[in-house]
Amino acid sequence: MQALSISGLKKTYKNNTSALQGIDLTVNEGDFFALLGPNGAGKSTAIGIISCLVNKTGGSVKIFEHDIDTENDKTKTFVGLVPQEFNFSVFERVLDIVINQAGYYGIPRDIALERAEYYLTRLDLWHKRSEPSRALSGGMKRKLMIARALIHRPKLLILDEPTAGVDVETRRQMWDFMTELNEGGTTIILTTHYLEEAEKLCKNVAIINKGKIIENTSIKKLLAKFEKEVFIFFVSGMAGSIKPLSSYNIEKLDDMSLKVELSKGQNISEIVDHLRHEGIIVETMKNRSNKLEELFINLVNRQ
Ligand code: ADP
Ligand code: MG
Repeated sequence: MQALSISGLKKTYKNNTSALQGIDLTVNEGDFFALLGPNGAGKSTAIGIISCLVNKTGGSVKIFEHDIDTENDKTKTFVGLVPQEFNFSVFERVLDIVINQAGYYGIPRDIALERAEYYLTRLDLWHKRSEPSRALSGGMKRKLMIARALIHRPKLLILDEPTAGVDVETRRQMWDFMTELNEGGTTIILTTHYLEEAEKLCKNVAIINKGKIIENTSIKKLLAKFEKEVFIFFVSGMAGSIKPLSSYNIEKLDDMSLKVELSKGQNISEIVDHLRHEGIIVETMKNRSNKLEELFINLVNRQ
């Protein structure tokens, strides 16, 4: 079954910003799905529409095969949302924030309390239950929004940059908890601009840039596609341009250095030999760490 099916989704804001230019996306039940993209790409807009908080301009959205236009109430019960911005009262107590949310879904108070205790304990917030939310750290506030999003046991949990600006320990807690939820059958969609986070958690990924989906594949395939090693060669004897070597990507940075990209199966000595033929001697080289973030930026810039 498809947890989410989006087709031709468009959003133009009142100020004429075209945030989504017709996107198609499918997320299968049980998936842990990453929606990646730089700031302003349209991630939160898409999530806002899926959660019925933002009106779309065109296209259709189905959640577990129910259309958000015609079966709005039903689709809302399927979705739990952890928004990008804190959106609870800073004066309200932690426990009340979670319990009151249960009220919107008509969950009886005793069941709500039981669940709230479970999720707040699991997220290490139970001891803070009587505090007003303003007494929480940023990471704790995020975790509170996660507990709140789960109170009606949604089949699809959507988290909009849940780990942005969160300390390492809290991030790890969130990762563990999200993994546990997913293993328990909850479909998860996570937006992030950390490709490493997507790599750690997610199975499938879509990359969105300027309101368009520019890549939609498995995380494994995405990484393989861009798995290259980058070397900087410091050379002597280089005058003018360098003769290309088939299938190798060699770029002159200045008269003393070259940037060389190696894909799997390519051989560094072949390049050194090629350069020697040209009278260029490789004096030293360094391996520039092939950061995933860098690949991601490349991918986005390429469009
Ligand atoms: P992301 O979550 O990927 O950072 P957003 O969906 O927040 O991207 O924003 C997509 C584009 O829409 C951006 O250009 C942003 O400035 C614009 N935008 C977002 N919300 C509004 C709004 N309420 N009114 C006008 N423009 C908006
Ligand atoms: Mg956003």
